[in-house]
Amino acid sequence: MRLVFLGVPGVGKGTQAEMVSAKYGIPKISTGDLLRAGVVQQTPLGKEAKQYMDRGDLVPDKVVIGLVEEKIGTSECEKGFILDGFPRTVNQARSLDQHLRHQDASIECALFLGASEETILERLSGRLVCSQCEESYHSAFRRPTLDSVCDECGAPVIRRRDDDPAVYRRRLKIYQKETAPLVEYYDAQGVLRRVASDRPVEAVADSVRRAVRGVV
Ligand code: AMP
Repeated sequence: MRLVFLGVPGVGKGTQAEMVSAKYGIPKISTGDLLRAGVVQQTPLGKEAKQYMDRGDLVPDKVVIGLVEEKIGTSECEKGFILDGFPRTVNQARSLDQHLRHQDASIECALFLGASEETILERLSGRLVCSQCEESYHSAFRRPTLDSVCDECGAPVIRRRDDDPAVYRRRLKIYQKETAPLVEYYDAQGVLRRVASDRPVEAVADSVRRAVRGVV
């Protein structure tokens, strides 16, 4: 199964991708998580990416494309993968298609999660993440058992810097310009499925499962 999740930052791609990953035993690849790990570990790639991420800008295509190609070439991804946060530009999508074509493969399903601006802002304003393992939390819907401490690894739970309202507005603008055209891109390939994400997580997950069932 080769799946792509699309939708504005904060719509719930990560949560839903994680659930599909757990159900089918297919790895989730989040470019945001990979880049943040690089920032924490201060790798050369992390150091380069940080300046873009802090501003809410996209990290250059060549950096993220290399990162994803390396990851999907590993034995872990033999049975497929679930991409979260990639592709984010038409150029990234074309590179991915080209890369997969060499392996006689393709993206089988692009799931577009849509929600109203009100829902997105509500989710983002409470979004929290573990500073170490990236486990996600929410101040209203999913609080850590102990205040500000990750249930999984015990590290501090924090707010993402790029969820700051000013940075988020910039990310949204870039999304509309660079990423929104991917909906049409995958629709033209006949692999797009739309799922309304203005609903409780489990209801969205049901729709996602139904959409995915057709491709596994
Ligand atoms: P995310 O966790 O997916 O919201 O990504 C956080 C940040 O990482 C984005 O605002 C970008 O700066 C960077 N990033 C993640 N994925 C990509 C991508 N596919 N292309 C370029 N930049 C990315």
